Amino acid sequence: MQNKPKKPTPSLKQNHGAHQDPAERRKNFKEVALGFGMEDALTEAARCLGCKNKPCELACPVNVKIPEFIDLLYKEDAGAAATKIFETSLFPAICGRVCPQETYCEAACVLKDKFGPVSIGRLERFTADYARDNGLIKPPDCAPDTGYKVACIGSGPTSLAVAAELRKLGHAVTVFEALHQFGGVLSYGIPPFRLPREVVRFEVETLRRMGVRFLKNVMAGKSITVQELKKDFDIIYIGSGAGLPSPMNTPGEDLVGVYSSNEFLTRVNLMEAFKFPVTDTPYYIGGKVVVVGGGNTAMDSARCAMRLGPDSVTLLYRRTRAEMPARAEEVENAMEEGIKFEFLTAPVELEGDEKGRLKRVKCIRMALGEPDASGRRKPVPQEGSEFYIEASSLVVAIGQSPNPVIQQTTAGLSVNKWGCIIADEATGKTSLDGVYAGGDVVRGGATVLLAMKDGKNAARAIHKALTGK
Ligand code: FAD
Ligand code: SF4
Repeated sequence: MQNKPKKPTPSLKQNHGAHQDPAERRKNFKEVALGFGMEDALTEAARCLGCKNKPCELACPVNVKIPEFIDLLYKEDAGAAATKIFETSLFPAICGRVCPQETYCEAACVLKDKFGPVSIGRLERFTADYARDNGLIKPPDCAPDTGYKVACIGSGPTSLAVAAELRKLGHAVTVFEALHQFGGVLSYGIPPFRLPREVVRFEVETLRRMGVRFLKNVMAGKSITVQELKKDFDIIYIGSGAGLPSPMNTPGEDLVGVYSSNEFLTRVNLMEAFKFPVTDTPYYIGGKVVVVGGGNTAMDSARCAMRLGPDSVTLLYRRTRAEMPARAEEVENAMEEGIKFEFLTAPVELEGDEKGRLKRVKCIRMALGEPDASGRRKPVPQEGSEFYIEASSLVVAIGQSPNPVIQQTTAGLSVNKWGCIIADEATGKTSLDGVYAGGDVVRGGATVLLAMKDGKNAARAIHKALTGK
């Protein structure tokens, strides 16, 4: 690039990247964040000071070599920059899009308070996309076959991380997935307008090219038990996620038009109901959609609903915007797209018509009281503040827990009171010999990067258990 700014020039304005226009994007499922072009990327890379003590890198759960990859990118060697990221992070095109950088690396960037942090996530995404689109990513070399066999249950980010690491070390890996597509939440939960499906497919294909076997429509615990798998495999890794939706336990939750976020997002994203009748999965949302919750799942549900063309989408959250667990950027995107936020509000009853269809939601206003066990201020119902919102459909997105099928059919596998498998944090070792676990089935709902981190840690421990190395 001609006239590239000198590195470092931290005072350049932080570039948040271009976005599809809100009025347009609320009608389509195409990617919202358009990403950097080369010039934007080099200019943003020029802002980085290359701090010797690497606060950004230390704040990253998998310690991506941030100053080094940014420097290589600045030197216009995107291939080397991508290789540098791959040293510690397996799927940067995914993490660059969905990782909450604002709470990890970008929160630690020394430029944050004075000029705004370096847009590390966007640079990561650019590097990975550029390297992929220009054929600069080759599947890593795999060590000669060791003869050991590992089964991964589930094909979400934690199992993909285990599969990648162990395959590189020469072990034979088979991934068993209950659904008909691979990727876990990356395929069935996070909508394509945040994470295009070709990005996930590329990562799965790369693993396939490395020799990982993928089997779909296999529900471990039902189609085949862990004990049966143990007869054929030396090690089992359970990465079955937390896909069981939590109900609100509110009267009327069984009315027609009331969905769990899981059902709703699977229908829309995995089964592509938004393309109906081109696809054969229909949907019903009516004119007035209500979504309950304040996390990423609630935000994705509300934004998917908006793209299906109702008159309004209203989100109910019982605390304030400051306490929302969803990524700040996605809350902002949702607001721009016209979703109405009712903070300090909770549903107390769902009312239906004579045909059993949802008609309106009785709500109550809340106030924030003392902090609860989670450290967040507890929402307290305000007596006499009840009011109604008309609703043709409602999506419950208030949390998820692990599906209990494997836990119930695997004798001796220890679980905690929330149904999460108990596993050693550093190694993923469970109470059963040769059985490891990680990601959401252990953490009960966390992030993509933490799921990958668990997978990498477990792979290291599994390799040691198999080979002593
Ligand atoms: P999952 O991704 O849940 O994958 C588990 C897989 O196991 C699934 O494919 C499931 O079908 C399969 N499975 C389950 N049971 C069985 C069985 N018995 N046999 C075979 N297969 C089985 N995190 C972020 O970092 N950023 C975000 O922006 C973000 N947004 C999110 C949005 C939504 C809607 C949701 C639901 C989560 C989001 N998260 C986000 C959280 C993140 O996606 C998860 O923490 C992460 O995917 C967990 O990875 P995992 O591999 O443990 O499980
Ligand atoms: Fe660059 Fe910010 Fe990291 Fe310093 S803290 S190396 S400026 S990204």
